[in-house]
Amino acid sequence: MSKAEVSMSHLIRVFTKPEQLNSKLAQIEQHISDNLADFLSQHVVAKKTSLEEIEKDFASAAIPEIPEFVSTHAETLLEKLVAHSVNTYSPRFIGHMTSALPYFHLPLAKLMVGLNQNLVKIETSKAFTPLERQVLGIMHKLVYGQDETFYEQYLHSAKHSLGAFCSGGTVANMTALWVARNNLLGPRPGFSGVARAGLAAAYRHYDIDGVGVLSSRRGHYSLGKAMDLLGMGRDEMVTIDCPSQTLSPEKALIAGREYAAQGKKLLAIVGIAGTTETGHVDPLDELADVANELGCWFHVDAAWGGATLFSERYRHKLKGIERADSITMDAHKQMYVPMGAGMALFKDPKDSNAVRHHAQYILREGSKDLGSTTLEGSRNGMAMLVYASLHILGRQGYELLINQSIEKARRYAEMIEEDPFFELITQPTLSILTYRVVPPGVHDLLANASQQTQQRIYDLLNQLVVSVQKRQREAGKSFVSRTRLSTQTYSDKTITVFRVVLANPLTSDEDLRAILQEQATIAQETQAWQELQGLLLPHVKVS
Ligand SMILES: *Cc1c(COP(=O)(O)O)cnc(C)c1O
Repeated sequence: MSKAEVSMSHLIRVFTKPEQLNSKLAQIEQHISDNLADFLSQHVVAKKTSLEEIEKDFASAAIPEIPEFVSTHAETLLEKLVAHSVNTYSPRFIGHMTSALPYFHLPLAKLMVGLNQNLVKIETSKAFTPLERQVLGIMHKLVYGQDETFYEQYLHSAKHSLGAFCSGGTVANMTALWVARNNLLGPRPGFSGVARAGLAAAYRHYDIDGVGVLSSRRGHYSLGKAMDLLGMGRDEMVTIDCPSQTLSPEKALIAGREYAAQGKKLLAIVGIAGTTETGHVDPLDELADVANELGCWFHVDAAWGGATLFSERYRHKLKGIERADSITMDAHKQMYVPMGAGMALFKDPKDSNAVRHHAQYILREGSKDLGSTTLEGSRNGMAMLVYASLHILGRQGYELLINQSIEKARRYAEMIEEDPFFELITQPTLSILTYRVVPPGVHDLLANASQQTQQRIYDLLNQLVVSVQKRQREAGKSFVSRTRLSTQTYSDKTITVFRVVLANPLTSDEDLRAILQEQATIAQETQAWQELQGLLLPHVKVS
């Protein structure tokens, strides 16, 4: 491998000079600019290389001693990394929330990286700071819809913030619960507040045995991380079973009261607007009432579903979200912004002062430095990409994208229901649905089988989904994810299901039909299918 010389002049070239037009790096750039889809389909090859095999390319901990030429290194990246990455742009990659991006993000991302602004403080970001505040204001208005004077007063106020921009839904959930915690256990005469005195002192001062957060079992695992990190402990997560996939307000109220009866304090109810697994929306309006009744904070995790608010046709599905004290949104999900664009929004612009932090060299008191109320320190100018998206697509563009996803999910659900090989498990509320493959005749068999045979059938159906999902992924033409759910329909049994997220606007009905067709074909080649046929045979004979 050709090595570059180690000299200051070479390093200065690396910092300043673009690669020559015919260099490998320049070729990559050109190919990406000309036709991204073509670049991805040529380079991201769905090779059946195992992760263990790939690990061999990344096994050494030796520090690279001598500089390599940029172009030489670019070759290596193509071969070892890009070739074995995942083509999330593929219209048949419908298993996760990560999908294709609008093309304009590529040059804009380059601009963002080139400018290398740091939003932690104005001294390294200047205009990016008001821009980020404006983006937060726009998203705040999307949810809370306050009037003009409200935004005139608060959008750029050094003493307030409408939200915190962050890397994603996880940090947004943490930020929201952090603000809630510090407001609940805040300073008062004789106590300096949890932020200064810590949790143990706060519990003593307020005479409570614990602080908990309540959500349904479909709550995102980042809530557990937040409980851990904020010192309240994962065991104080009050998790409610949800056989109908949404949090029952009645159950929440009972559980909240029981929790308080133990001498503990319920910090917050978390309603989910678009669960990660099934896309369901909790009854937010009723949960806001319960939170009122219990006197606790109401947080809505709308990381996935929040963008539905752009749609006049479907925003009613999130009715009550405007009553939340705080909201999590991910622009890198249904707003089609590159990853690293999360937001926590606060109904009351004063609330985040509970976490405000000042330092001498930056974040001086009265400054508009965004770092004083964010969990993260150095952050890039990602808000620019949200800003650009909001303008380039506009609310109407977003509405179209949201509507077509929801309507496509409905059509997919219909295809599944009409197909004798499949069974729809959860109807799409937004654009996520779950289903499984069930050989014809198995439902009748189940209805008349002994308990032991029923159990055997359940096991085989679960195995069938696992095998089909794995083989489909390995074949590399399409990708659907899988999860385990308990549902009312199956007397609360936990079943394994395919999970589909219809995020990519380029996914056509034809793609969906092809995915089902492939799954049906793969299913018939599995051991589980054969065994189910074996169970069916004698049954067919007798009847
Ligand atoms: C994706 C998601 C999160 C986590 O967001 P990240 O951006 O992955 O950190 C949290 N909650 C819900 C409901 C989500 O869909």
